Amino acid sequence: TRVYLGIGSNLGERAETIRAALRLLAARVGEIIAVSSLYETEPWGLTDQPRFLNAVCALETALEPQELLATLKEIEVTLGRVPTVRYGPRVLDLDILLYDDLQLDTPELTIPHAGMLTRSTVLVPLAEIAPLVRHPRTARTIREHLADLGPTPDVAPYPPGLPPKAVAKGGLGQPSRC
Ligand code: ADP
Ligand code: MG
Repeated sequence: TRVYLGIGSNLGERAETIRAALRLLAARVGEIIAVSSLYETEPWGLTDQPRFLNAVCALETALEPQELLATLKEIEVTLGRVPTVRYGPRVLDLDILLYDDLQLDTPELTIPHAGMLTRSTVLVPLAEIAPLVRHPRTARTIREHLADLGPTPDVAPYPPGLPPKAVAKGGLGQPSRC
């Protein structure tokens, strides 16, 4: 099953946390097919907190949706996330964006992710690795949904000054330049 995950961090060594999360995802969830560049983004929801680093990845997994969510929560805790307010600061946030063409709405799990079509912090990195993938509810592509948002000045390539492609070439496995 092809899944797309959103990865975010706004506390501690953010880039290192995201790299560590990718290693744990590969070990516990499945083969990583693609990883976006890193982006630094303005906090969404609660705005009085440090900026996030965000990325998205595509994986091939054999886990069912509920198992996947439980595994993501374990990885969040492994990497030091402590309970906090919704939308608040966190060492690591792992969200299920898409799970094949599945549509699911339960108290614990909404797939596709409920906020993904309005958040530049999700659509900018997702459009990098999955521009032509269609949202199962709207049947429109990620690229089209991103275009609907208009300009996205709240999402910047990270590290600053490098175009996203240069970052992608180095890959998240490389230490970031400073
Ligand atoms: P948020 O990511 O919305 O800022 P949390 O990471 O604390 O907040 O998640 C809160 C809850 O959202 C999780 O415990 C989980 O049960 C629920 N949830 C619903 N849909 C999803 C999804 N698609 N991916 C991840 N969590 C989800
Ligand atoms: Mg979350």
